[in-house]
Amino acid sequence: MARTFLITGGAGFIGSHLADELIRTGHRVLVIDDLSTGQISNIDHLKGNPAFEYTIDSVMNRALLAELIDRADYVVHLAAAVGVKLIIESPVRTIETNVRGTEIVLETANKKKRPVLFASTSEVYGKASKIPFSEDDDLVLGSTTKGRWAYAASKALDEFLAIAYFHEKRLPVVVVRLFNTVGPRQTGRYGMVVPSFVRQALASKPITVYGDGTQSRCFGYVGDVVHVLPTLLSDRRAYGQVFNIGSQEEVTILELANRVKTRLKSQSEVVFVPYDEAYESGFEDMPRRVPDITKIQSLTGFEARTSLDEIIDRVADYYSTEATSLPGGWGDS
Ligand code: UDP
Repeated sequence: MARTFLITGGAGFIGSHLADELIRTGHRVLVIDDLSTGQISNIDHLKGNPAFEYTIDSVMNRALLAELIDRADYVVHLAAAVGVKLIIESPVRTIETNVRGTEIVLETANKKKRPVLFASTSEVYGKASKIPFSEDDDLVLGSTTKGRWAYAASKALDEFLAIAYFHEKRLPVVVVRLFNTVGPRQTGRYGMVVPSFVRQALASKPITVYGDGTQSRCFGYVGDVVHVLPTLLSDRRAYGQVFNIGSQEEVTILELANRVKTRLKSQSEVVFVPYDEAYESGFEDMPRRVPDITKIQSLTGFEARTSLDEIIDRVADYYSTEATSLPGGWGDS
């Protein structure tokens, strides 16, 4: 049955892919996005579709948000300050956006008891060393004097609040922890590694590996991730629960740099940049980050189908064809 989904942050990387998926499967989509990190070009192709509507505004606009939530059956809350670089550069904005925004979305959705899916992040596991990370594991965050942990702490607080709304107010909520989601439309502007490496490789510029490149990640394809979100949000068994979502194909960042270089037949050299230079002095990176996805698999049959090589190809296609026409598409770092 056709449903109406409100996507906060719907002009962003993940939000716009989710809008595509929902429209493709016959649903209606309302988007609210303040374009702080989202881009109108991500949803340009949906304009004019009768099943799609968008509003350029912030979720902090309570009256407008209430009106949109009233018209929606489900709320997917993706609007947030994202990316480690952005977090370090604008810590006040990160904390305020992530905490206040989620507070307002939950409070407003609760008035109409609309189910909410809240997008959290694998960052919340922090420096935990048990691999893979399971939803019930301890979260191990660094000192409050180290800027990067503000992102994890803000998202963890949002998770607490979402789960508190479920228990105390009976608001249906689902929390997902997304692990390094990548694909077309993700910008390298906020430091994300896959778009950064692909763009560097395409432009024959040095591929910048931070630290010694032994740190590893699992890159999940955005199409696989957004495919499972509506299923979760409409399943009562998921309410009040936390789910990891991502791929389990682990790769070191140095391997990633070499894979991108080889795959794109690039002349770029791979260079090492100390963390202090890349981020801030005393920056703490996470050495490994692998999700345990048993929980989402058993509830929904989720699979990360898209391999890293396919991901690299699709991101490269995107940058070869579309990004040249985007504002700041090639010019930024
Ligand atoms: N990274 C890198 N070069 C870049 C950007 C990122 O080596 O140009 C590294 C970063 O230090 C981290 C990994 O790639 O170890 C993933 O970074 P990203 O910001 O994409 O996501 P994170 O896992 O930090 O949330």
